[in-house]
Amino acid sequence: MAELTQLQTLLDRSAELDAADALAAFRSRFHIPTVDGRPALYFCGNSLGLQPKGTHDEVLQELADWQRLGVEGHFHAQSPWFSAHRTVTNAMARVVGALPHEVVMMNSLTVNLHLMLVSFYRPTAERFRILLAGHEFPSDRYALETHVRSMGLDPTETLLELHPHPGSHTLTTEQILAAIDDVGTSLALVMFSGVHYYTGQYFNIPAITQAAHRVGAVAGFDLAHAAGNVNLHLHDWGVDFAVWCTYKYLNAGPGGVGGTFVHERHGNNPDLPRYGGWWGNAESTRFTMDHAFVPTAGADGWQLSNAPILPLAALRASLAVFDEAGMDAIGTKREALTSYLVDVLDAVLTGVGGVHIITPRNAAERGAQISLSFDHDGKAVFDALRSRGVVADWRTPSVIRLAPAPLYNTFADVAALGKQLHAVVAKEVS
Ligand SMILES: *Cc1c(COP(=O)(O)O)cnc(C)c1O
Repeated sequence: MAELTQLQTLLDRSAELDAADALAAFRSRFHIPTVDGRPALYFCGNSLGLQPKGTHDEVLQELADWQRLGVEGHFHAQSPWFSAHRTVTNAMARVVGALPHEVVMMNSLTVNLHLMLVSFYRPTAERFRILLAGHEFPSDRYALETHVRSMGLDPTETLLELHPHPGSHTLTTEQILAAIDDVGTSLALVMFSGVHYYTGQYFNIPAITQAAHRVGAVAGFDLAHAAGNVNLHLHDWGVDFAVWCTYKYLNAGPGGVGGTFVHERHGNNPDLPRYGGWWGNAESTRFTMDHAFVPTAGADGWQLSNAPILPLAALRASLAVFDEAGMDAIGTKREALTSYLVDVLDAVLTGVGGVHIITPRNAAERGAQISLSFDHDGKAVFDALRSRGVVADWRTPSVIRLAPAPLYNTFADVAALGKQLHAVVAKEVS
């Protein structure tokens, strides 16, 4: 009974927390999906972010311009297509802490990862190893494995996966830095995620970057779960390159255009090997077909093809919301909302065996995701939550991921989730 009262007191606090939330009004800027006719308890913004209400008009404007102008839209559309990729770079750069010419939006994440490997993974007989976190997202694993194989290298000798110490779910920064030092002069590339998709651990990007550079290696990051989630300073941290997608925390819609960061010390080096295409060529000679490839300066010089206008329009609409809210305010709410979720989960799970939070408890080591690991029956809990209107996701072997997105989730959402989980675990786990 004492536990129930404690949980109830905590859930009752949600109204006061929502009233004090500086970003509360932003929820109304999004379409909230429904489950059985009621607004979903949507905790899946780390997988597919919700649609900003502004997206519809922004995309329809492109269709109208195409309808009205045909090919003339390249120069006369509301956002001329010729330079459309640049309409998002300033706002995108603010979100990831980059200079505008260090960011380009193009392709999709895994494609961009391969393109970055072409430029930044330059193995030699001595220096060829790649260090990554264990249990990484499959696409990254596949990209690295096939990429090194395409270069004639053996993935089993090349890829070093770092696993947590026994009994732990997450890596410590000390462990990562020690591994980098250990591999030393044979380390070509540290390829880490910013926020790990499974555990929700936010890695110490500046410390990893510095350690990689100390041993002469390149530091690259996959920010799929970090961009639009945690406060990044890619330029100041000296990160060599990064890639991300925009359909998770960045709310740019399914299949959204990917992002790439190339630090300016590399971006302005035309001699860096790369795969080229016409859109990455200097604009002045792009259409003169008789000369050798001359990359345009900055991250733009990695573009291959002309820009995807409809996905860029969706991203533009979303980034307008990010600009209005600001990453600092988003970060403040993210910490408060995620900490509240942890408190609620702790209260719900008091006395319930076999369920653990595997995401770091230190707020500096996580973003807006809490991963709950189940010793058994996890999938049944997930299914029961789904039937009660909770949209979360299940990751094999044993995790429910819950992501409270600061732009549209409320403290009341978290309280309602706690109430539903309490009802479910009382049935399923005990
Ligand atoms: C979501 C995600 C991807 C997705 O890759 P796409 O190329 O956008 O399909 C890749 N890597 C990580 C770590 C992810 O979280």
